Amino acid sequence: MSTGPLNPSDADNQDETGRIFRDARNRLNKAIQYYPISPDVEEQLKYPKSSLAVSVVVRMDNGSRRAFKGFRVRYDDSRGPSKGGIRYHQNVSLDEVMALAFWMTFKCAVVGVPYGGAKGGICVDTKELSKKELERLSRTYIDMIADMIGPDIDIPAPDMYTNEMVMGWMADQYNRIKRGKYPGVITGKPLSLGGSLGRTDATGRGGVYVLRRLEEHLQLVPEKATVALQGFGNVGFYCAQLLHEAGYKIVAISNSEGAIYDPDGIDPGPLKAWEQQNKEILMGGPTNGKAQAISNEELLKLPVDVLVPAALENQITTRNAHEIQARIILELANGPVTTAADAILEERKILVIPDILANAGGVTVSYFEWVQNQTGFYWELEEVHDKLKKIMEKASINVWNTMTEHGCDMRTAAYIEALKKLTEAIEAHGTRYYFNVP
Ligand code: NAD
Repeated sequence: MSTGPLNPSDADNQDETGRIFRDARNRLNKAIQYYPISPDVEEQLKYPKSSLAVSVVVRMDNGSRRAFKGFRVRYDDSRGPSKGGIRYHQNVSLDEVMALAFWMTFKCAVVGVPYGGAKGGICVDTKELSKKELERLSRTYIDMIADMIGPDIDIPAPDMYTNEMVMGWMADQYNRIKRGKYPGVITGKPLSLGGSLGRTDATGRGGVYVLRRLEEHLQLVPEKATVALQGFGNVGFYCAQLLHEAGYKIVAISNSEGAIYDPDGIDPGPLKAWEQQNKEILMGGPTNGKAQAISNEELLKLPVDVLVPAALENQITTRNAHEIQARIILELANGPVTTAADAILEERKILVIPDILANAGGVTVSYFEWVQNQTGFYWELEEVHDKLKKIMEKASINVWNTMTEHGCDMRTAAYIEALKKLTEAIEAHGTRYYFNVP
């Protein structure tokens, strides 16, 4: 695979062939119908600002070399340095990374953090690598993309199958290359390397702040509400834990190995401990006698008040949207519902709290981490929680009010909110009107 920026014709090609990216951009097209934007802004948001495809060649433990496909995409930086996580997964493709970078652009705008959007990824199944191989892979990836990132240019963070240990290796590698200390180059780092208190649970917590702020509008009473979660990783686990603490009954949880259903409710803490000791097997753990194994597909169709997809994209599609029985979908994963499925859910009056709002807690605390790194002054946990709550609640109400005002779905409302801020920033750089061109 060649290393280097894609040329514009490649970007066009991706546009023609990239189903995930095309689907992501459809959301923007829909929002523009409700909130027309200038042709200049539309043009600016059409393609990623830059995309890099690299070959990450790693020395394996047995002495052989293995090449992995890697990507970094910066979608837009009109509102500030671009920001976005790095995903390790066997299905990672340029199409997916472009879509994720696109979503990041809108997500940062919805919550008002001063960033543009980016994303990165490596096509790898981390379960096949030793820890040493994983470290070499992560450091080599940074070698390949170092010229594209930086505390004031583009700031990576964790995503699926990357964590604070990986971020620590990556930050260290960047510092070695640049011969200095640049903690603000990557967020989601270990505390000892300049991480922020409250980053680990920020995405799950942020989603819970959104849901709780809207409880009254959604006619949700925690003690009477049931929840099913797909995905029990960083995001899914903390969301489950916090909802459980708030009184919600968690009746189903899944991971890549399967799902567990218990109508009497599951305590996520002990189940997590069991999962970690038993190679991700959920069944047989500390639940009561009514617990039963179900499939991931069955979990999605359970009659619950709140369904929380917190794993992968494209989980609710035209294939199963007709069978979803949840009243509310809280999208903590990125892109779990396709555009076509959105239409079916809307018709069936199932409310979707969109990813670009619901899972924005992660990037918000990443922003806090970066602010702390840039100033060298670190905050107490309470301060992180308070500031996160304030931002998530404000964004939730703004989106809710925009939805009511325009009579649209909540996702479209979130895009409109983001577009307002993006339009302001792009136009502040000068538009055709500014140059007196009609
Ligand atoms: P993670 O790697 O910690 O956890 C992923 C979970 O999904 C694991 O429990 C895994 O077993 C499960 N999973 C994988 N494939 C599955 C399948 N086919 N069916 C059911 N479960 C499956 O990842 P994460 O950080 O929790 O991220 C989850 C989602 O949230 C992703 O879409 C990610 O982009 C999104 N997200 C994460 C953050 C963050 O801060 N980590 C922020 C915003 C959005």
